Amino acid sequence: MELIEAIKKAGVVGAGGAGFPTHVKLNAKAEYLIINAAECEPLIETDKFLCREFADRIIDTILLMGHHLEAQHIVIGLKAKYKAEIAALEKAIREKHAAVEIFPMRTFYPAGDEQVLVQQVTGRSVPERGLPLNVGAVVENVGTVLSIADALEDKPVTEKYLSVTGAVREPVMFKVPLGTPIRRIINQVDLRVKDYAVIIGGPMMGKMQSSDSMIDHAVVTKTTGNLLILPKDHYLVRRAVKPVQTMIRQARTSCIQCRFCTDLCPREQIGHNVKPNQIMRNLWRQDQITDVKEFEATFGSAANCSSCGVCEMFACPMGLSPRKMNDYTKGLLRGLGINPEKNQNPTAKSTIEQRRIPTERLIARLGLSDYVFHVEPKLITDLDVKEVIVPLGQHIGKPATPVVKVGDMVHAGDLIAEAAEGLSANIHTGFAGIVTEIGSSGIRISKKEA
Ligand code: SF4
Ligand code: SF4
Repeated sequence: MELIEAIKKAGVVGAGGAGFPTHVKLNAKAEYLIINAAECEPLIETDKFLCREFADRIIDTILLMGHHLEAQHIVIGLKAKYKAEIAALEKAIREKHAAVEIFPMRTFYPAGDEQVLVQQVTGRSVPERGLPLNVGAVVENVGTVLSIADALEDKPVTEKYLSVTGAVREPVMFKVPLGTPIRRIINQVDLRVKDYAVIIGGPMMGKMQSSDSMIDHAVVTKTTGNLLILPKDHYLVRRAVKPVQTMIRQARTSCIQCRFCTDLCPREQIGHNVKPNQIMRNLWRQDQITDVKEFEATFGSAANCSSCGVCEMFACPMGLSPRKMNDYTKGLLRGLGINPEKNQNPTAKSTIEQRRIPTERLIARLGLSDYVFHVEPKLITDLDVKEVIVPLGQHIGKPATPVVKVGDMVHAGDLIAEAAEGLSANIHTGFAGIVTEIGSSGIRISKKEA
C-alpha cells in the first residue's frame, strides 16, 4: 500500500507532540528527514526505550520515509549521553549499510523542541510560526516512526508505550490500549507517596492533573508518553494551580526587568521575536492600550512563544510566570484579531550555545533531583484493563466521527471512529469489548464478562 494512504488509514499522528496527523505532514518532499529521539523533557524514558528495543525497525522505516520524501539527509537527533541507544542504532545502521546519520546533542532543554532541533541539525532557523518544511526539513518523533512501521503492515495505532516516573520506587514502562484510564496504570506501580498529583508528559510542558477527579478522568491517548507522579504538595503542583489574576498582580509588583526570561528564551535565541520581559512590564496597562498598532507592538511577541517554560521554570529569579502570561496574552491577541507580522528569515544569535539550559540544573531547579533513576525501566505489557474510554480528538484538527454504536461488539484493531473532513485522523481500538457509551469524553468500551 502507498505510504501516505497506509499512514492515513492507520490513524498515525505525531506521538511526541500535539498529535499532528502524520499523513498530512509527510505528504511533501524535503531535503532533511530528522528523527527526534532527544527525549526533550527531563525524567521521561519512552523514546530511549524505543531506540534500544526497536533499532532495526526504526532504521528500516526511516529509510522508506526518506525515500518517499526524497530526502538527501536522514538524521536521528538524540543526546550524546544516551550511549546504549546510540550503540543500538549504530549497530542497525552498520548492518543495513543505511545512509543514516546520528546527530549527538548536548544534554540541554529543550533539545527536542522541533525548531531548536532543526536549527541544530541544519543551521537554519524556521520562520516565526512556520514549519520545519519551510527550511527543507520534516521532523518525526521516534514513536511516530514505529507507528508508521505498523501502518505499513496494515496495523493501526491501537496501543501506546509510556513510562511512569517521578515519585515511584522504580520507573516502569507500560504498553497499554488507547483509552486506558491512567489511574489503572498508576495503581500497578509501587509509589513513594500516598497523596499524589500526575503530570501527563514531562515537568515543563505536560498537563498537570492536580485533583483526584482530574486523575480519575484522564486516559491514555496517542500522544501520551509519560506519567510523572509527584507528591501533592510538590512545588510544581503548587505553581500549576496559581490563578491567572495572581500572576498578573505579581508581574506588576515583583518583575525587576532583569530580562533573564528573554535572554534565555530558546526561541529568541534561534532569532524569533519573543520578549516575555516586555509582556511582564506592560500587562498591568493592557486595558489602557486602545490603539491596535500599539497593542501589537507591545504584546505581539507573545505569538511566537512555544510555551516551553524555560522563562518561568528556570530563568526568572523572582518565581514569576512569564510563560503563563504569554499564553494569556496570546488569548488577548486572538480576541482582538491581531496576527503579528512574521519574520520569514530569522537567524540564530551568536550566544545560542552559551545560553543552553543544562538539563541537570533544570532538574535541580524543579525540585526533581530525588526522582532521577539510573536503571532501565521494567516493561509491563499485560495490564488487566476492564474498560477504556477512547477520546475522539486525540490529534490536531477535527474530532473523528464514531462509526460504532452502543451495544456493538468490537475487537482489537477495529476502526471505531472515522477521520472527519479536513484535518483529522482515524481512531481504532486496542481493546476488545462492548461499546457501552458514546459521549463527550469519547467511546467507552467495557470488557465482555464471561
Ligand atoms: S515559554 Fe518562555 S522561554 Fe519558552 S518560548 Fe515562551 S517566552 Fe520563550
Ligand atoms: S526574569 Fe522574571 S523578573 Fe526578570 S524580567 Fe523576566 S519576569 Fe521579570
